[in-house]
Amino acid sequence: MQPDWSSKFADRTQRMKGSAIRELLKLTERPEVISFGGGMPAPEIFPVKEVGEACERILKNYSEKALQYGTTEGYNPLRQMLADDATKNGLSCQIDNVLITSGSQQALDLLGKVFINPGDNILVESPTYLGALQAWNAYECNYITVKSDKFGMLPDSLEEGLKKKPKFVYVLPNFQNPTGISFSLERRKKVVELADKYGIPIVEDDPYGKLRYEGEDIPTLTQLDSEMRGQKNALYDGNVIYLSTFSKILAPGIRLAWVIAPPLAASRITQAKQGVDLNTSTFNQLMAYEVGKDGFLDTHVKVIRKVYHERRDVMLDALEEHCPKGVSWTHPEGGLFLWVTLPEGNDSAELMKEALKENVAYVPGGSFHPLGGGDNTMRLNFSFSNPQTINEGIARLAKVFRTHLH
Ligand code: PMP
Repeated sequence: MQPDWSSKFADRTQRMKGSAIRELLKLTERPEVISFGGGMPAPEIFPVKEVGEACERILKNYSEKALQYGTTEGYNPLRQMLADDATKNGLSCQIDNVLITSGSQQALDLLGKVFINPGDNILVESPTYLGALQAWNAYECNYITVKSDKFGMLPDSLEEGLKKKPKFVYVLPNFQNPTGISFSLERRKKVVELADKYGIPIVEDDPYGKLRYEGEDIPTLTQLDSEMRGQKNALYDGNVIYLSTFSKILAPGIRLAWVIAPPLAASRITQAKQGVDLNTSTFNQLMAYEVGKDGFLDTHVKVIRKVYHERRDVMLDALEEHCPKGVSWTHPEGGLFLWVTLPEGNDSAELMKEALKENVAYVPGGSFHPLGGGDNTMRLNFSFSNPQTINEGIARLAKVFRTHLH
């Protein structure tokens, strides 16, 4: 009998779709295509020497630990290093708040597993991070979207959404993926206050916080929430779950990230993770600790900032130089992406066919909108390509705009 797989899958698989971005990346693998599609770091500045030396030291001195199973919460010296770094940067938290995950993407999935019942509403920005939608769709949630402007979520729209009692609010206040927009301090305070007022938890996703190229650092929501509660030098026990990752400050290939969570949430996330992968790669955790323990990552982040700052500027200048009237874009103060808006009525997904003929690619904006819309938008990444390639790619893209936009 021919097995009938299609009738066997769980109902939730109906909600799972392959990421448009991942499909697109396949199309852009042709070497002649300049892709602004993915969200990849610049490989030429991976700290290969430091990683290599750390691996050698680990195999020589700590192989019994590094090649063994580890605790689900993560390698304690690494957790402590991250707790100390958070505290140094203004969020006083302790090792018990910190959990290591196999990428932030796993953390997002674990949050879905721990918090989302079928039919729950999740409050999100629109557009928002596609990977979060992908992770949570499988838990059969619905989305409430909040209107935003260039300073972040609009408080009235947020309050309206909170009144509908979502399970949690998902926000990316620093250099958002996909738009590059950051929340102002006032808007951050408002999100923290309103979420507290309505008793709705916040998930703050912050992979890019350290990658600021201009302006002053602004406190995270987690920090503001902790300050509001007067929790200095204590276990953080507030209303926010914070996510960050080594993907953009060390390397995404090691799949290493962390969560800072209030104790009760931390223990549930840990239980959920036990069922997923027992523990995050022990070897990689020791490696990240060895690389980071004497402050190397602070130095390395300065290198990353310098390189991406230049690339961002090159992309902004090239857009200015080549783009026809009616096309606009964001001016991100950090991160990896900027967001282009075409005149109303144009469809960036359709336009992608023309762009690929010119050997240039981007991510159409529609897929970042959980309830639809944004068809005339697109995300451009500026971290991966070198300045010369960025210039050439934007010139090609602008040619597509000039020829095909209406
Ligand atoms: N959240 C956001 C906002 C991201 O941009 C990314 C990476 N593209 C992730 C989470 C996932 O990161 P990681 O590589 O740690 O899984």
